[in-house]
Amino acid sequence: MTTLELPSPTRLWTPSRVLVTRSAAERPYGQRVLARLEAAGVDAIDLLPGDRLPGLRGNGDRAAFMAAKQTLALVVPPPSARRLQPIAPSADWRFDLAQGCPAHCQYCYLAGSLSGPPITRVYADLDEALAGLDAYVGRGTVTSGTAARGAEGTTFEASCYTDPLALEHLTGGLATAIEHFGSHEWSGPVQLRATTKFDDVAGLLGLPHGGRTRLRFSLNATSVARRFEGATSPVPARIGALAAVAAAGYPVGLTLAPIMPVDGWREHYGRLLDDVAAVLPADADVTVECITHRFTPGSKETLLDWYPRTRLEMDEEQRTTKRGKFGSVKHVYPRETMAGLRGWFEAALAERLPQARLLYWT
Ligand code: SF4
Repeated sequence: MTTLELPSPTRLWTPSRVLVTRSAAERPYGQRVLARLEAAGVDAIDLLPGDRLPGLRGNGDRAAFMAAKQTLALVVPPPSARRLQPIAPSADWRFDLAQGCPAHCQYCYLAGSLSGPPITRVYADLDEALAGLDAYVGRGTVTSGTAARGAEGTTFEASCYTDPLALEHLTGGLATAIEHFGSHEWSGPVQLRATTKFDDVAGLLGLPHGGRTRLRFSLNATSVARRFEGATSPVPARIGALAAVAAAGYPVGLTLAPIMPVDGWREHYGRLLDDVAAVLPADADVTVECITHRFTPGSKETLLDWYPRTRLEMDEEQRTTKRGKFGSVKHVYPRETMAGLRGWFEAALAERLPQARLLYWT
């Protein structure tokens, strides 16, 4: 296994406040996280007498929002969170290491799905949660049983409600999961999946991953990333991290999201794909997921509350409305815009990254 010399991580979050519930402090993984937090020099750690988190009701103002974003809570999730749900189109099952993220993407995907103040909750029951995954192997219908992706085995997505690498220096949770997937005796083929806008991969390179974790990097045109992806690692650093994990033998992926038809988008995205092609070996196991920008009435309201001065386009007039099964509304780009984007990306990927498999376009 070869590894690349890595520059230091560009972003390491230090929470201003940590809350630890009693149940979380009793769990072995919770104790390991506590030790890491202390070693990282985080001093404002409150060990709570019970399992309720106090004082987290945001009062709707900016200071409350920022305070919540700077808070990490170590908690044991309710049992319902450990009954795994399918998560199309990424994976058979959603497997959460945490919920929440310290970064400030003005289009954040979490805006429409999380309720309450945006603190980052790290789940302290990781050891039991990993042991519980055996029951899901061989089940699942999102990627299992499909012609295109059935060979991946039963898939577990760890990035639905967080960015695991944003927290890794404080938790070690992704490394724990990667090692478990790589060394546990499973009853059938499995794959752990994670995607990130961070670059702190040094601790992952030497792990016995067994090729069972696909690490994807969320990439965008520099113009989009610079303007809208606050407190994340810069795109070139993410591409460096992608190259490093590919060299360490991990299956890898690009999450191109959210794709936006900004001025000069062909040039901007073309440059991005050129930069990726320049560092990926011709025989890399690489997948691509393409997700165009969309918003819902709820996510728009939350994002405008979080980032009132954003210049992110969220204009219903410029969008087509898509309705879900239960009446939910999503605002997506109009059909012609979508077709133009999709045609360009499919051709550009085939030309620049012929070794890549496009998993889906949405
Ligand atoms: Fe949201 Fe992902 Fe950005 Fe974190 S990195 S703020 S989860 S979009």
